[in-house]
Amino acid sequence: MNNKETTAVTAGQPHSRILIIGAGAAGMSAAIAARRSAKASGKGCSVTILERNARPGTKIRISGGGKCNVTHRGTPAELLEQGFLRRNEARFLRHALYSFSNSDLLALLSSHGVETEERPDGKVFPLSGDAVTVARAFEELLRESRVEQYYSCRVRRVERKGELFVVTTADTVFTADCLILATGGVSWSRIGTSGDGLAIARALGHSITKPSAALAPLYTQKAPPASLSGLALRSITLVASAGGRCVERRGDLLFTHRGFSGPAALSLSRDVAELMGVSGNCALFADLFAQQSSAELEAELLKQARKSGTQMIRKFLQGCPIAPHSGSFGAAPYGTIPTALVPFIMRHAGLENDVTWSGLTKENRQSLLSVLKRFPLGSVRDVPLDQGEISAGGVSLGEVNAKTLCSRVVPNLFLCGEILDYAGEIGGFNLQAAFSTGWVAGVNAVKVWE
Ligand SMILES: Cc1cc2nc3c(=O)[nH]c(=O)nc-3n(C[C@H](O)[C@H](O)[C@H](O)COP(=O)(O)OP(=O)(O)OC[C@H]3O[C@@H](n4cnc5c(N)ncnc54)[C@H](O)[C@@H]3O)c2cc1C
Repeated sequence: MNNKETTAVTAGQPHSRILIIGAGAAGMSAAIAARRSAKASGKGCSVTILERNARPGTKIRISGGGKCNVTHRGTPAELLEQGFLRRNEARFLRHALYSFSNSDLLALLSSHGVETEERPDGKVFPLSGDAVTVARAFEELLRESRVEQYYSCRVRRVERKGELFVVTTADTVFTADCLILATGGVSWSRIGTSGDGLAIARALGHSITKPSAALAPLYTQKAPPASLSGLALRSITLVASAGGRCVERRGDLLFTHRGFSGPAALSLSRDVAELMGVSGNCALFADLFAQQSSAELEAELLKQARKSGTQMIRKFLQGCPIAPHSGSFGAAPYGTIPTALVPFIMRHAGLENDVTWSGLTKENRQSLLSVLKRFPLGSVRDVPLDQGEISAGGVSLGEVNAKTLCSRVVPNLFLCGEILDYAGEIGGFNLQAAFSTGWVAGVNAVKVWE
């Protein structure tokens, strides 16, 4: 780091009012908010941030495929509704998302030269198309806020001694009056998030909801056929079923060489991981005509059979609109059934390659219908926790005050970002939640001295 405030770790026992562990989105936001808030109220308040990586914002730099989907369009209420599907988690995040909203975040970025653009699907990205510009803006904000920063500095242990937190790294013991834990989740452990913060929170007395995969790919027991790898199905409903329970998600699905990815698979992965945890197995299906009931689709198939008796079924399927809005094969708002998938539909439905509509028995039609509504994708082998964009689980929300982000268990301990037991959807919701909870934690940590 070419940074004046960056201090090399030396022997001694540096003390600060507020010490933050983790310089990701949440930790940086907390540091900036604390310094600004202290300045606004005329208080002196030293803020130190410790980060095990060599620089801040490592995850921001790789987010959104290097483009950083920094937040999502909409009011805080809309973000909570679309981005956080579990009601208790949305309720917990409500205050933070209203206190430091997407508009606040974008204004902060804009004040440091990062203009953003909103995509038609509501995702917001820096106009530069480069996540590094977001990370750099936060580095600049840390610098100008005079936050003391230590990098390549991994915290090994935290103890509460009297009124102080004693924070031990490989070569320094720091003390602080107030501690903010912003160490993130447990996925992508190779870039610093290996669960240290959860062990620290547990040692301090917090209960932890066991981390599990979220926004992760689904690996199947039998990999999809090589000819399908890379294929995308647009706007289908992905259904996962195990032990009599079914969960589903609407969206695009991508075939990979190990199983499935794409928005529908990533979004459903948390539920699938939970089903796997309970049942040990989970079957996947795709509803290719999610907008239509089986009865509506059957009526359409019958209409097609009457209209085009000599047409081969496979020819019909090639280019057949997928998930049409209304009960009509005329328009293809979401694209068509990929040609490569057609032989598999035919095989699963038990149809001969050259069968025509007029040659189709009622049983054939029923089995075609059932394959189109429930195309089998195989059984899940694994939902790899480390491959997830985020991890679910973490510090129990019931033990943290949602209005201040202060621990209900340990005085003057604050927790923010992905270390907490919430998980957002894809679309910029997770970074926004980290920035918002970080901001609220920083502001409230300063209030400890009021
Ligand atoms: C590949 C990928 C792409 C993503 N894309 C997006 C996206 O486009 N939009 C979106 O909204 N979300 C995205 N996310 C999710 C988002 O990046 C995270 O939810 C968010 O960064 C969490 O912020 P955080 O500050 O809580 O944790 P983190 O950003 O993970 O920061 C935690 C920091 O704590 C440090 N740390 C951990 N332990 C210690 C220790 N013992 N001592 C010192 N430091 C420690 C870590 O090194 C890390 O820098 C993506 C995630 C990944 C992995």
